[in-house]
Formats: sequence, C-alpha cells, structure tokens
Amino acid sequence: MKKEYTNGEITILWQPDMCIHCAECAKGLSTVFKPREKPWIQMGEVSSSEIQAQVEKCPSGALSIKE
Ligand code: SF4
Repeated sequence: MKKEYTNGEITILWQPDMCIHCAECAKGLSTVFKPREKPWIQMGEVSSSEIQAQVEKCPSGALSIKE
C-alpha cells in the first residue's frame, strides 16, 4: 500500500508497511510529520525543499518523493 500527500509542488509517497516508527520524521520536521493527527502528513507550512530533505532522511525508505 502507498499513500500520497501533496502540496501541489511535490508529492510524498508513504509506504506504511515499510515504516519502522522511528519518529525521525516527526523529530526532524514536526510541523509536517504529525503521527498523532489525521492526516499525519500536513505539508502546508514548510517549503518543498525542507520537506524533501527530511524525506531523504527516512531510514527505512517508507517515505519518498514521487517523481
Ligand atoms: S522516518 Fe520513516 S521510518 Fe521513521 S517514522 Fe518516519 S516514515 Fe516511519
């Protein structure tokens, strides 16, 4: 399963089966990655480049940017 979240500029793909719940994303960019909320990814307030940089730090590959 893949879920998509977009800000109209870039799209995050999230593959929940690959997520190891390490919380690196929430610790690194808490204004976007909010595990306790729905939707848990909220891309409104942050630049696409900051989001992309955080996505690239996901250790499991659960987060990626849709090309
Ligand atoms: S950084 Fe990646 S593996 Fe860790 S909680 Fe976030 S999505 Fe899941």
